[in-house]
Amino acid sequence: MLELRGINTFHGKIHVLHDLSLQIDEGEIITLIGANGAGKSTTLMSVCGITPPRSGEILFKGQPIQRLPSDKIVTLGISQVPEGRRIFSALSVAENLELGAYLRRDKAQIRQDIEHCYALFPILAQRRSQPGGNLSGGEQQMLAICRALMARPQLLLLDEPSMGLAPLITKQIFDIIRKINKEDGTAIFLVEQNASLALKTADRGYVLENGRIILHDTATNLLSNKAVQTAYLGI
Ligand code: ATP
Repeated sequence: MLELRGINTFHGKIHVLHDLSLQIDEGEIITLIGANGAGKSTTLMSVCGITPPRSGEILFKGQPIQRLPSDKIVTLGISQVPEGRRIFSALSVAENLELGAYLRRDKAQIRQDIEHCYALFPILAQRRSQPGGNLSGGEQQMLAICRALMARPQLLLLDEPSMGLAPLITKQIFDIIRKINKEDGTAIFLVEQNASLALKTADRGYVLENGRIILHDTATNLLSNKAVQTAYLGI
């Protein structure tokens, strides 16, 4: 479904991603784990067109997307839930969800999809008229995920969904991430500091060190890999 072929991405003069290649098959959950500053967020930003690679290719269902603007990439079926959620704090929950569908024209289906979001996270239904800025961190994360779902993605990019959240809320959110994958068939590209949680959620994982993939395997094998355990799982 998605293939990154030898991409090199820069922030100004800083060469962040070096010949990075990875792939996600339909219906898969993959995770990218790595230390702070390894380049995980930059990888997601390369895919969604915010920081396009200077060289290499990104193919989505066989089509090169590395030169397309972000809105076009969303239309093709890739949505991102950014690090830090970035919800519109002055707008209501319902308005945030409507904005997630701003590239769609199918009004009736949009209403149904909003109800689907409320079914996934009933607390959002209770808070539908409240400004996004009044929500707790966990509720904002739920809203950010639903706002991305409102674009009807086939591939969802998630950047640090557990950041700053209590374990119980994190569990609730990850249960829903698995449900979105299983029931809707949405493929998921998960970037997560919590490597143990990420690998327990994913089918396969890639390990990123200083902008280079140094290892990739099934999530089960990575969880039992001694080097991964020492470096990322605190075992
Ligand atoms: P974290 O978990 O801390 O978010 P990360 O693995 O997601 O880390 P990135 O955020 O992709 O890493 O950052 C990779 C490198 O790029 C770091 O050295 C970072 O300082 C640098 N960087 C990231 N964003 C920018 C930017 N907008 N301008 C300049 N340098 C940046």
